[in-house]
Amino acid sequence: MSGKIKYNQNNRKNARRNETVAVVLPQVAFAGPKLLLQAGREKSLLRRHPWIFSGAVGEISGNPQSGDTVQVCDASGGFLAWAAYNPDSQICARVWSWQADEKIDAAFFRRKITQAIQARQALKLAEHSDGMRVVHGESDGLPGFIVDQYRDVLVVQLGSAGVEKWREEITNALQELCKPACIYERSDSDGRELEGLPVRNGVLRGALPQKLHITENGVKIAVDIATGQKTGFYLDQRDNRALVGELSRNREVLNCFCYTGGFSLYALRGGAKSVLSIDASEEALATAQQNMQLNGFDETQAEWQCADVFAALRKLRDQNRKFDLIILDPPKFAPTAAFAEKAARGYKDINLLGFKLLRPGGILATYSCSGGISDELFQKIIAGAALDAGVDAQIVRKVHAAADHPVLLSFPEGSYLKGLVVRVVN
Ligand code: SAH
Repeated sequence: MSGKIKYNQNNRKNARRNETVAVVLPQVAFAGPKLLLQAGREKSLLRRHPWIFSGAVGEISGNPQSGDTVQVCDASGGFLAWAAYNPDSQICARVWSWQADEKIDAAFFRRKITQAIQARQALKLAEHSDGMRVVHGESDGLPGFIVDQYRDVLVVQLGSAGVEKWREEITNALQELCKPACIYERSDSDGRELEGLPVRNGVLRGALPQKLHITENGVKIAVDIATGQKTGFYLDQRDNRALVGELSRNREVLNCFCYTGGFSLYALRGGAKSVLSIDASEEALATAQQNMQLNGFDETQAEWQCADVFAALRKLRDQNRKFDLIILDPPKFAPTAAFAEKAARGYKDINLLGFKLLRPGGILATYSCSGGISDELFQKIIAGAALDAGVDAQIVRKVHAAADHPVLLSFPEGSYLKGLVVRVVN
């Protein structure tokens, strides 16, 4: 092939349609470290997927250290992206920017965080809740970086070597842009270990208030930032809790994997006759009690059980208990597709039992937060569960995470949470 082909949209299309058409990318001068991909392994980057797996790398030059910015190039040295290097992870680099002229420095992070904040402002989320996700990792262009806001406290999770390296600059930018009373670090997710990073949990700026609650769609929810699950609460389920609240009037509700009672509180506020909530965590159930008091709900309508849901559902079935609305919001059974088969069995089991416990006309609100289970597979599992339970059921809503957890189109992995609201016909 002669001459230099300018990289443009058409070349990208051609590259996909016909693998023999080479895309010639411009070389960009850079004195720092470089990752040269193996020939043909640039395709996912041309589609702007932000992860580079170690198996795709041909050559590493310039001796980059963990978190260092590297220039990612195709096998001919053409510029693909700027990325953060991590020698200790299977994902050995995560892309910061696709722009050749972008400099990865403190101003870059300030810019990216500002964009994320502005996106939430445009959605007017603050009108409904003073708890929200402010930065959602890859989908906000900051791989591995999570910021959750609970009133005037920011909780950060640094889940990649790149954000770990820029920790101080990022914290400064957040302090300056959001002026929170406290910035707290919860870098203790499983992801940190996969990235070869040490677990960290503590105050970065200011002081953590003794007690803290958010008000989400008018429901008060206590958040234990230092020891709660995730960054303290499951903000992603906000809209789905609201929907369940709307469907709860006069219903007998069963909330499985209730954590601190999010769905239960919405159900009670929505006029449920009674709510039985089950979780294996005593700490979560203790916070649920606080939540009942915070909202001034009638304790006699709510029953809380500390138990394993798999066993509890069987017990309820054997007792011939029936419900009008069942919520199944289990933890992540399949972090990646490799776990999908085992996870599918778990989802099938609880959903089959759920269908059996529902009265005709009853509703199953069922969710999966497993990245390894696609929307399509999840729907198949639920269809199989209904079939084996001997019920006809119809999907009335397909739901996902709330808008403060956006999904970048080039990063479908960001769409981890899926849910079906299913009505049993007979
Ligand atoms: N629905 C909740 C979030 C649920 S997170 C909300 O809206 O806030 C999943 C919950 O499942 C966690 O609270 C965890 O403690 C609980 N859990 C995990 N495995 C369990 C099991 N086998 N039985 C009961 N609870 C379990």
